[in-house]
Amino acid sequence: MHSYAVDLHIHTALSPCGEEEMTPNNIVNMAAIKGLDIIAVTDHNAIGNVQPCIEAGKKLNMVVVPGIEITTQEEVHLLAYFDSYQLLEEFYCTLKSNQMGLRNRPEIFGKQLLFDSKDVIIGEEELLLMNALQISFDDTVRLIHQFGGAAVPAHINRSSFSVMSSLGFLPTHLPIGCVELFNGTEKELFLSRHPEYKKYRHIISSDAHCLANIMERIFFVELSSLTASSLIQWLKI
Ligand SMILES: [Zn+2]
Ligand SMILES: [Zn+2]
Repeated sequence: MHSYAVDLHIHTALSPCGEEEMTPNNIVNMAAIKGLDIIAVTDHNAIGNVQPCIEAGKKLNMVVVPGIEITTQEEVHLLAYFDSYQLLEEFYCTLKSNQMGLRNRPEIFGKQLLFDSKDVIIGEEELLLMNALQISFDDTVRLIHQFGGAAVPAHINRSSFSVMSSLGFLPTHLPIGCVELFNGTEKELFLSRHPEYKKYRHIISSDAHCLANIMERIFFVELSSLTASSLIQWLKI
């Protein structure tokens, strides 16, 4: 087993709240400068920049795990990770039938930029990505599991868009092995106040919307190999 530095929650400029500097090559280069081994790109309700980030990462031997941050009907943010882009894409084909179909207004919500692997802007997503999908938290977790992915409730201890703020508790009957705590959480203090979360694995991620906020080498996972599939197994247990 080896210890790898990870940041599994990074937004590109496809997320309306993401800075325009969040291009595939800028992200993987900054992650490399910070000494990370594995990152995940997790845009709001969208996957359009994942493949370009994977391609950009290959040049630096940076593992980019295919991911997404879904806003469920209850306004809970839920991260999903897959060990291949193909699986993420298949999952997303089913998930997107739950979009409301509202159009983005870039002047209000921000641009939603799509890039190729050389950081050239190739378009803008026209559907508004910020709003909640018409699918429940439980059904989204089950759908992620059905496609072989790992469901990880995002920033559970944040005061908005989280399991604790929107649901009040994490349902225990679902296939969830890991939860995310927001960057800066004192994990031992949190667990002493909320012992019901001791049975889960925990990740701490940046939720970066700008380059400067991508994590330093401060959070590590023990994996048998430096691969997305090894990480997915770790997240699911
Ligand atoms: Zn979030
Ligand atoms: Zn996020």
